[in-house]
Amino acid sequence: MPLRKTKKTSAEIIRKAYKFQAVPTEEQKAMFAQTFGCVRYLYNRMLDDKSKAYKYFGENLNLTPAWYKHISCCRWLADVDALALANVQLNLNTAFQNFFNKRAKYPKFKKKSDHHDSYTTNVVNGNISYRTSDKYMYVTLPKIPGELMVKNHRPVKQDGKLKSVTVSREPSGKYYISFLFEYTKVKAVHDIDPDNAIGLDMSMRSFYVDSDGNEVDSPHAYLHVQDRLAREQRKLSHMKKGSSNYQKQKRKVAKLHAKATYQRNDFLHKLSRKLVDAYDIVGIEDLDMKGMSQALNFGKSISDKGWGRFTRMLVYKAEACGKRVIKIDKWFPSSKMCRECGCLSKKTKDLSVREWTCPHCGATHNRDYNAAVNIKNEAVRIYCTC
Ligand SMILES: [Zn+2]
Repeated sequence: MPLRKTKKTSAEIIRKAYKFQAVPTEEQKAMFAQTFGCVRYLYNRMLDDKSKAYKYFGENLNLTPAWYKHISCCRWLADVDALALANVQLNLNTAFQNFFNKRAKYPKFKKKSDHHDSYTTNVVNGNISYRTSDKYMYVTLPKIPGELMVKNHRPVKQDGKLKSVTVSREPSGKYYISFLFEYTKVKAVHDIDPDNAIGLDMSMRSFYVDSDGNEVDSPHAYLHVQDRLAREQRKLSHMKKGSSNYQKQKRKVAKLHAKATYQRNDFLHKLSRKLVDAYDIVGIEDLDMKGMSQALNFGKSISDKGWGRFTRMLVYKAEACGKRVIKIDKWFPSSKMCRECGCLSKKTKDLSVREWTCPHCGATHNRDYNAAVNIKNEAVRIYCTC
């Protein structure tokens, strides 16, 4: 009976940015414009002063926004978010560092005509807050009047720490807000029971056959969309490029494509979730897709089934909860080996052979099920020996 193993825990910091379209009021737009202007002015002014000091005295001046706020001609800088200005200093210092380390050219002035306005502010002592409804987020930013309305088009992952916010105005006139979150990823611990394992054999006919003898098929709805997609794509290829019918058909194909992708991913997500929830160890074959599709010339059916995507989903889902996906070397003779006595048979070389009898012990095997059991046993062996 193999010993149980426990994984060690460790934590790493992951940063993730979320960008949303903002819908500012006229009053907010005015304040954004003022901040963009101050940020650009300060950047150019600091760059100019630093350049002169460098040119005439060979000195790298360390300038701060506070210094500028105190000179009479720049008092108005105090009207905007101080952290936005502090970030200007940091950005400029980075630009100079990159120049001195020969990673970048000498910093350039920012022109108003560049039409790319933005500023970044940091979260300090709860100066930035937000609340969410179904469709909108309402964000409170330093020096910006009221709450900024933001289109909430995708969920933000829970348990993150908001670090900074960047507001930008694109040449189209649209406003965007980008939130930078920090997540502490604690690697999950799970007490793995090697007896609670499953092996999957990617089958020719179905999606896979597992070591419990279940055959899992790709959903029919998905296959149906695939057929329609192929048909509509054929139609498209016969149409005159650029004609209005062609454009119409192209949109139809794109829609079907999106539907097929959605259905396939939904199926793969649910299936991988089910497996990872139920088992501690999942054994799969490490298939070299390219080599395999060339050798056997059925690459299309494999990529349609999404085996590669499926195994990636399995791996990250298992990692997130401390479980194991073990890939078996593609040379491991999972199909050839009798699961009862370990004897190898040459009969299974022919892919059309679905059932075979072991020449040594006489056991009769279903090809895929036998392979799945071998994959499971090999996965458990690998887990327990390393
Ligand atoms: Zn045998």
